[in-house]
Amino acid sequence: MKKPKYHFNTKTLSFEEFKGSVKNKFLRFISILTSGMVISAAAILILYSFMDSPKEKALKRENEKLKLQYAILNGRMNQVSAILENMQNRDDNIYRTIFEAEPIPDNIRKAGFGGEDRYKDLKGYDNTELMKNTTTRLDVISRQLYIQSKSFDELILLAKSKEKMLSCLPAIQPVSKTRCNIVSGFGYRIHPVYKTARMHTGIDFAAKTGTPIYATGDGTVIDPKGNQSGYGIVCIINHGFGFQSLYGHMSKMIVRPGDKVTRGQVIGFVGSTGLSVAPHCHYEIIKNGVKINPVNYFYNDLTPQEYEKVIEQASKLNQSLS
Ligand SMILES: [Zn+2]
Repeated sequence: MKKPKYHFNTKTLSFEEFKGSVKNKFLRFISILTSGMVISAAAILILYSFMDSPKEKALKRENEKLKLQYAILNGRMNQVSAILENMQNRDDNIYRTIFEAEPIPDNIRKAGFGGEDRYKDLKGYDNTELMKNTTTRLDVISRQLYIQSKSFDELILLAKSKEKMLSCLPAIQPVSKTRCNIVSGFGYRIHPVYKTARMHTGIDFAAKTGTPIYATGDGTVIDPKGNQSGYGIVCIINHGFGFQSLYGHMSKMIVRPGDKVTRGQVIGFVGSTGLSVAPHCHYEIIKNGVKINPVNYFYNDLTPQEYEKVIEQASKLNQSLS
């Protein structure tokens, strides 16, 4: 309890209780209020310089969350990069090899970004490095994906032409395998007329006169020109891709130079015209102007066992029919 104050009244010669004027009381009240406010403000300032405000705390939490999300994003990008690398390896070592395309050089696949600073907008933040690194990685992945998709476009084109190539290449026997015998193969054989060892540049399929002869791949019938000597009635098909096939000693030919033919189409019939001693089809394959062994071009219609038998028959050192 507040102690009362006294002062000595010289008129009454006695002590009287002192009561302050209203003005004095008001001034006193104002001074207490002001000093209270100053002390509070100072206290709040000191407090805030050592502790975070609730808003700051919320922002810091948000910032931590963002950092975590960046870390998760980077983890995902690691996975994407690994998958992409696997695709690039398969592309270079399998797909491009199958279609005889050169692998894409590393300096193209892994090319960086030169020139102007692409990330200048990201400068001046606390997490500038984090944002810059993540954005750079994303840019690199996007670029590599673009190059990869371009490579696939190229492979699709190659595959399409390969499909055409596969239907054009000679791939079957010119005479049905149930209606003929291979009597002479490619290599040095005794010539039936000259009786000397001569290079036999094809395979002889013995069959009855009139047995159908088939085009062994898609192509265009061409004029035999100088090839006629000895082959009798002869058909030559240009298959493109450097390949031609020749069918000799026919009894009759039912296509003409300029005709388009498809694999398996009848082009004529077995006979013994030209330099021949018995009805047969003399079959040749010419690759880039060189006569090659046709035995490797029957793969479409032979089982492995039949193929082995053909190889055995074609490699016998006997007398050819033409
Ligand atoms: Zn022959």
